[in-house]
Amino acid sequence: MNKIYFDNAATTQIDSAVVDRIQNIMLNNYGNPNSTHSYGRSARTLIEKARKTVSTQFKASPSEIYFTSCGTESDNMVLISAVRDLRVKRIITSKIEHKAVLNVVKYLTETESIEIKYVDVLNNGLIDYNHLEILLKESSHKTLVSLMHINNEIGSKLDLIRVGKMCEDNNALFHSDTVQSIGKYDFDLSKLNIDFIVGSAHKFHGPKGIGFVYINKNLKLNPFVIGGNQERGMRAGTESVHNICGLETAFIESYQNIITNNKHIQNLKTEFINQIKKLIPSIKFNGSCENNLLSSPSIINVCLPISKEKSVLLEFNLDMKGIACSRGSACQSGSQSGSHVLNSILSKEDLDKPSLRFSFSKYNSSEEVVRVVSVLKDFVESN
Ligand code: PLP
Repeated sequence: MNKIYFDNAATTQIDSAVVDRIQNIMLNNYGNPNSTHSYGRSARTLIEKARKTVSTQFKASPSEIYFTSCGTESDNMVLISAVRDLRVKRIITSKIEHKAVLNVVKYLTETESIEIKYVDVLNNGLIDYNHLEILLKESSHKTLVSLMHINNEIGSKLDLIRVGKMCEDNNALFHSDTVQSIGKYDFDLSKLNIDFIVGSAHKFHGPKGIGFVYINKNLKLNPFVIGGNQERGMRAGTESVHNICGLETAFIESYQNIITNNKHIQNLKTEFINQIKKLIPSIKFNGSCENNLLSSPSIINVCLPISKEKSVLLEFNLDMKGIACSRGSACQSGSQSGSHVLNSILSKEDLDKPSLRFSFSKYNSSEEVVRVVSVLKDFVESN
C-alpha cells in the first residue's frame, strides 16, 4: 500500500538535495564558525552566504536576519524582546494564533505589566479589521500587533499590507508569524511595514531544528540567548552550520520554483474541493479555505457530516489506509479542549462533528487526492 502524506503544514518531506548538502557540510565543513583558522573561516563564509540568500530574497539587509533553532524560538525572541527592550506595554493578537505566540503572550501577561487585547475573529477565519482599528486607536501605550500571515489550521490569510499600514498609522510595531508562508509567498520587506517575520526550515522541505527571524534594523534589541557573540551577540551558541546550509538550499529551491510549486499545490487543493463537493455534498469547509484569495494554496480544513460516535473511528480508519492528515476537531480524546482555532470560529453543532486538515506539497499528486476523497466518501457512507 502506498502511503499518502497530506500533513505538510505539520512538517514537510526534506528535499534530497538538502540532505546531500547537509551531509557534505557535516563531512567537509566541520570547523567552528567562530574559530579564526581556515576551517572556521570557511564555515563562517557559509553562514553569511545563507544569511545573504534569505535577506536578498526579502529585500532586507543581512544584518536583519538571525538564525534560530525553530519558528517557536523566533516568535519567543520577538515577543519577549519587544516587551523587555522596546517598552511595549500592550500586545494586540488573536485567539487563533499558533501556541508559539499565544502561550508566550500569556506568559508575558503573567510576568510583566502588559495589557493584552484579542482582535475579534470572524466565522470565516479572518480577523475583524475594523475591530483591529478600534483597538489600535484605543490607547496611546506602546503597542505590538502580533498576527499570523497564514493560519496553520485553516489556512486563512492576513492582509499584511493593510495591517502594516494600520500599524504604521497608529505607531504600533508589527510582528507576523510567517512560518506557514515561507517558500510559498515572497515578501518585499523594503516596502511592507512589518518589523518582524519568522521562518522554520522544516515547513519548506528543509531540516528540523533551524529557523530564522527578521528584525527591522531600526529596532535595537538586547541578546535573547546570552553567552558568546554568535549571531551578532543576539543568540549565543555555536551555530548549526549544516542546518543553516540545509535551510539555505531548501529556501533557494522553494523560491526558484515558487510559481510552479504553488500552481501544483493550488491545483491539488482545487481538485480536492471539487471532488469532495461532488462525492460528499454536505461537506463543510472551515474558515475561508475554499476561497483562493483569502487562504493559502496548500491548506484545506473540512468538517465531515458524521456523528461524534462514528468519528471515533475516523483517524484509525485513515491511518489503516496509509493516509496522514491532521485532526482539528473540537474534542479529540474527551479530556482535551480541542482545536483553539476551530473553537473560535465554528458553531457548537459543527464542533461536535470531526474536522480534518489536509495540507499539500509539491510531492503530492492528483491520484492521491482522488484516493483520499474516495476513502472519505466510503467512511461517511459506511454504517
Ligand atoms: N507558527 C506556526 C504558524 C506554525 O505552524 C508552527 C509549526 O507548526 C510554528 C509557529 C512553530 O514552528 P517550529 O515547529 O519550527 O517551532
